[in-house]
Amino acid sequence: MHPNIMVVEDEEALSEMLRYNLEAEGYEVEVVERGDDAEIRLRETVPDLLLLDWMLPGLSGIELCRRVRLRSETENLPIIMLTARSEEAERVRGLSTGADDFVVKPFSVPELMARIKATLRRTNPNKISSRIICGDIELDKEMHRAHRNGREVRLGPTEYKLLEFLMSAPGRVFSREQLLDGVWGNDNYVDERTVDVHIGRLRRSITRGKEKDPIRTVRGSGYSLNDKFV
Ligand code: CA
Repeated sequence: MHPNIMVVEDEEALSEMLRYNLEAEGYEVEVVERGDDAEIRLRETVPDLLLLDWMLPGLSGIELCRRVRLRSETENLPIIMLTARSEEAERVRGLSTGADDFVVKPFSVPELMARIKATLRRTNPNKISSRIICGDIELDKEMHRAHRNGREVRLGPTEYKLLEFLMSAPGRVFSREQLLDGVWGNDNYVDERTVDVHIGRLRRSITRGKEKDPIRTVRGSGYSLNDKFV
């Protein structure tokens, strides 16, 4: 169910950076380096979104965009153009050629991710969901809200992030170090004991009455969200 994104970009450093960030957001990514190769590939498979560089070897991004729009299989394919050119005239030309959006290099990664999400939501609302469900726990990633059995669970920001992180891979055991990296990021001032404290708070918030504790402590390893807890 992950949306597929085809990245057509000849600068390897940039395409790898895009791949890394897109995969981290849960997209499936295919990178093609040349415009003409991308045209061939698009006859074999149609992604959910095309991230297209303007200047490409083989066939320019703008020409590829025009050709993609002429084929019935890809006429509605969402396209975001990437370009180093910031002139307004070029922007208009890009949009009139049929791109859905236009991002000028150098761009900020969070902004590009937001534009991709917005474009997908507009064009393919069922593919992009801000909800994750595991057992009787449901997260709304957009609203940063958690529900269990239909009741809202009030969580502090850290507990919320911890739960979201665990729910990203139910059943998988995360070490305290992995949880620190994933939830606290580069904050050097927290030690592994902090993880235990927040896991304890999360447990108390998420478990009421006879509800089962969804978090498993794996001795010597770390924590895991049970994939079968209800
Ligand atoms: Ca280029």
